[in-house]
Amino acid sequence: MSIDASPAYHLPNSMGRIILLGMEEILGKDGLKSVLNASGLPRWSGGLPGWSGGLPRRSGGYPPDDMHLGFSFEDLSQLQVALEDLYGARSGRGLALRSGRAGFKFGLRQFGQQLGLNEVSFRLLPMSEKLPQGAELLAGLFNQFSDERVRVETCETHILWHIERCPVCWGRESYEPLCHLAVGLLQEALYWVSGGKNFIVEEIACIARGDPACTIAIDRQPLD
Ligand SMILES: [Zn+2]
Repeated sequence: MSIDASPAYHLPNSMGRIILLGMEEILGKDGLKSVLNASGLPRWSGGLPGWSGGLPRRSGGYPPDDMHLGFSFEDLSQLQVALEDLYGARSGRGLALRSGRAGFKFGLRQFGQQLGLNEVSFRLLPMSEKLPQGAELLAGLFNQFSDERVRVETCETHILWHIERCPVCWGRESYEPLCHLAVGLLQEALYWVSGGKNFIVEEIACIARGDPACTIAIDRQPLD
């Protein structure tokens, strides 16, 4: 994989920050520091000035809490590589999933109101409408504020979350789907939107594998 000195695609700093906060919750501060160093991203583990926002202060050094497009797709992809290198493919995958779940909670704090997820009109929707509408709202957030592109497709049994430009596996090649962080984020989003239910969420296609999009299939019927 070639590393471009000025990558073309970015997430806003605040989303990068949320991802790092989620990873920190799962890996611990020292664990995340090792991952950042192994990713060639030590700048996010110290160096930067503090910030002021709605999130905990303990995390000075992470990207600032703003919507500037400053967190590159390559940064995110390299973090996933480092997770697998340091913890092994299997454990790294589990940690990425859990980091995605933790990241959603920080994201909800930051963007929940903007998304309208707390509004009564959304909360009172029947589950059959709530899930596709929640997915559309979340996709809209990525499409509006980042270079990530998501298209939601809903059929009777599944919601298909197509990431047509994906930062998680950016520039990687693999035989297996790689976007576990995104799967974790969706798992937690579904858990939250449904009031505590679990769903089968599975990545069925991945750009790293040569597929046209990273597609995450969500079973609309909860497990419990
Ligand atoms: Zn991907």
